[in-house]
Amino acid sequence: MSKHTFVTIGILIGLVLGAILGEVLYQMYDGAVPDGWLEGLSFVGKTFFMGLLKMVLIPLIASSVLVGVASIGDPSKLGRVGFTTLFYYFSTMLIAVVIGVVLVSTIHPGGDFDLALRDEAVTEFEASGSTAQQRVGGASGTGLWGAVKNITSQIVPSNPVAAAAQGKMLPVITFSLIFGIVLIVVGEKGKPVLRVFEGVFAAIMKLVEWILYLAPIGVLALVAWTVARIGTLNLFGPLSMYVVTVIVGLLIHGAIVLPLVLWAFGKTNPYRYMWQMKDALMTAFGTDSSSATLPVTIETSQREGGVSKKSAEFVLPLGATVNMDGTALYEAVAVVFLFQCFGIELGMTELLIIVFTATLAAVGAAGIPSAGLVTMVIVVEAVNGSLGGDKVLPLAAIGIILGIDRILDMCRTTVNVWGDAVGAKIITRIAPDDEHAQPG
Ligand code: ASP
Repeated sequence: MSKHTFVTIGILIGLVLGAILGEVLYQMYDGAVPDGWLEGLSFVGKTFFMGLLKMVLIPLIASSVLVGVASIGDPSKLGRVGFTTLFYYFSTMLIAVVIGVVLVSTIHPGGDFDLALRDEAVTEFEASGSTAQQRVGGASGTGLWGAVKNITSQIVPSNPVAAAAQGKMLPVITFSLIFGIVLIVVGEKGKPVLRVFEGVFAAIMKLVEWILYLAPIGVLALVAWTVARIGTLNLFGPLSMYVVTVIVGLLIHGAIVLPLVLWAFGKTNPYRYMWQMKDALMTAFGTDSSSATLPVTIETSQREGGVSKKSAEFVLPLGATVNMDGTALYEAVAVVFLFQCFGIELGMTELLIIVFTATLAAVGAAGIPSAGLVTMVIVVEAVNGSLGGDKVLPLAAIGIILGIDRILDMCRTTVNVWGDAVGAKIITRIAPDDEHAQPG
């Protein structure tokens, strides 16, 4: 058995055992698992395993985008790759949101939601003072313009070093992108700098390979931590129809739409490619974070998936922060569901606002756990603004879906990463590596 197969099987076992351990703990302690257990699992999963992935993230992004851009070289080709990449991101996110809106309007999961349960969840959320409540509160009032300003301020970094120190990905990507182009423009003098970054990238990828050996245990701890707090049976409780809507939507998008796109534009057998990308997809499922998964996505896409270096190094880092099909779909379903719970039926105008703002909110969401839950505020406020009058959804309504969010986050993060991987494979056709150039 090759060492990579060994890791893959390990991650799979980690996922299954993690779910079992979490459920056993949840049942054993009747839903009140002692802090000691939760802290232990969180230490292994978050502090240790995800800490290692995050450790390599900034040097990885900086070096990969820079080397990727420089290796594409020719500015007109770079423009073509950049434009196609962005077009792919936005069009697939839009498709995802539309699937979400159609499904949630058809299934109507919020129609007969228990009103007492609803009000209890809202009051509890308002009074909780939890981190989630503070983040939702902090995001409120920013409006659509606030969201645009926030994204733009990240795209134009006033201080790239500070952004890197704070672990912000988008500013680092922009700076590396510009710097990569400039290094090509200055020619000979830029070459030694490029060589240094090529070395940094190669070393970081080696490190990622080593970190992957720890993935089985990391994923086990993370999944056990999530399930121990939520309990899988809760998925079949009053929110079951909502859960079904999100999961069916993600399945349609991830298992039918994206494969079709890949087949049509990437001329690739999509399910074989999905299989090749399994390490990254399982890590996404376990970590709830596209960013933390990024090192694994880059590594797996090149080693197994036949993605060109140029494409993987450029498309995947950008995708991990910008392209979130799963989150976009989820935000649309969640918002319409919450309005349904409050008996507010949305018209065509509001649904169109949701399509637009959910896409923007997904772009603005960082690739970290539960980011989508917070940027959802933008969507809710935009719809409230359009409805006007007293028919508005209280932001605390988010409390209704908070409890099971983490498990849905695992599913949407997997689709987010899958969307990035599909994009990278398609872009490989227009930016192949020279040694295994493919017909464009
Ligand atoms: N956890 C998601 C990701 O990292 C973002 C979200 O939807 O919360 O891709």
